[in-house]
Amino acid sequence: MTDHSPAAKPYIVAADIGTTSTKTLIIDREGRVKASHSIEYPLFTPTADRAEQDPQQIFQAVVEGIGAVVRELGISAEEVLCVSFSSAMHSLIAVDDQANPLTQCVTWADNRSAVYVEELKRSGLGQQIYSRTGTPIHPMSPLLKLMWFRDNEPDLVKRTYKFIGIKEFVFVQLFDRYIIDHSLASATGLFNLQNLDWDEEALRLAGVTRGQLSELVPTTFHINGLRVEHAAAMGLSTATPFVVGASDGVLANLGVGAIEPGVVAVTIGTSGAVRSVVNKPQTDPEGKLFCYALTENFWVVGGPINNGGIVFRWVRDQIATLETEEARRIGMDPYDYLTELASQVQAGSDGLLFLPLLAGERAPYWNANARGVYFGLSLNHQKKHMIRAALEGVMFSIQAVASSLERLMGPATELRASGGFARSAFWRQMMADMIGTSVTVPDAIESSGVGAALLGLLAMGEIEDLSHAHNWIQVGTAHEVNESDYRIYQQLTSIYTSVYHQLKDQFDAITAFQQQHLLSLKS
Ligand code: ADP
Repeated sequence: MTDHSPAAKPYIVAADIGTTSTKTLIIDREGRVKASHSIEYPLFTPTADRAEQDPQQIFQAVVEGIGAVVRELGISAEEVLCVSFSSAMHSLIAVDDQANPLTQCVTWADNRSAVYVEELKRSGLGQQIYSRTGTPIHPMSPLLKLMWFRDNEPDLVKRTYKFIGIKEFVFVQLFDRYIIDHSLASATGLFNLQNLDWDEEALRLAGVTRGQLSELVPTTFHINGLRVEHAAAMGLSTATPFVVGASDGVLANLGVGAIEPGVVAVTIGTSGAVRSVVNKPQTDPEGKLFCYALTENFWVVGGPINNGGIVFRWVRDQIATLETEEARRIGMDPYDYLTELASQVQAGSDGLLFLPLLAGERAPYWNANARGVYFGLSLNHQKKHMIRAALEGVMFSIQAVASSLERLMGPATELRASGGFARSAFWRQMMADMIGTSVTVPDAIESSGVGAALLGLLAMGEIEDLSHAHNWIQVGTAHEVNESDYRIYQQLTSIYTSVYHQLKDQFDAITAFQQQHLLSLKS
């Protein structure tokens, strides 16, 4: 006889649809990762302001990735409790009534709608819409992307049956149904956080009707009836439940166990983010922070930064080339070698500041024209000062977002570090000293996937609430604040902030020059 009890279903499959790859995991009920797989796909940048992906390629990666982990662990469909999803935010695809894409998947990194930012901010409409929808007014927002399509592709808009994001695209291929969870909806700029419904004024502005969008469902919504061919490819059954899940950002908080007020998750990978959980939607009077849903009772407030680990990579590849070569020669990780050099310099880099705004910046300045600056250089500064100043610069950005969060939610009691930067004890300590709060390191890797699995357990009624995260995630290695370094950073923070504000107009001027120069080189 077949055993249908939950205990006979020991595994959860999590699929995390990211911008560079889809990662799939199999996790058991104790939170142990039993198998993982990653499939990369390209990001197309046909012009400087576009960043698109092929939705079919991503769909294939999801199907293949799930099939790969199920086969790798050698489990049967009957052993799978559910499949649960995490996804990158802000994507937009136009599809026809057969769910065929009419456009590529326009990603969060696409800047084509930049012109609408000023317009919305100047009229005051931007702040009104932000305060109801929680998505900052920025070209990443599907609201602005739809405004661009409205004005630039009116024929395409007429032919479009639905405007959807990448996870909705995956679900419609698998189940023939257009559904969007409250979490990804809350990152569209079109979703009213209070009513949990589409915002009529935002829809009017975007030029779309609610019929052109997906049906809204809670993040714990689940569905079965997988198409037979996809079930076979994934090694699952048509009866396997699929949980719609949430966005990668809010699930990362869950996946590191940062779900109590005061516990602030700081992720620094290529980019970075500072996030904290609240129990009801909360937006920022200054419009600097996002507010996205995890469930109806958990909301994540925070800010994303563009210039995270990418800054250290730039230093490694462009400034510290000789040192990087030396590290490789002696068989050492160049990042470890460079942090070792940086540690030979005192906190504050002997008065050298670096504004790490190489890729423009989102939070807290929301200024695409911001650029990098070394400030305070003198003859006594050496390469190691330049390296340390760059690492400190990233932390000045994190500190600025953390202080916006503090303004809204009160002081942080603990910072939980994750992403590539967390490999460095030196950089983590710098964060404690810059922000003045102790830092812990969760043992979780793939935090969004782990968060999706936890949400899957909740959706299937296997746990009572999300505090179960504390049974799964252990936290180690605390860094306490070094008070004298903290005082040095406080002094420098005010200089850093005023340098940024003094340079605002000059950033616009140099960016205009860079853009014109690039155009003239092309023609
Ligand atoms: P992604 O966002 O692409 O997943 P990761 O989370 O792997 O990226 O982070 C990559 C970044 O982490 C690198 O660009 C680098 O800045 C930082 N990093 C990686 N290893 C180290 C290390 N040993 N010490 C300090 N920083 C590191």
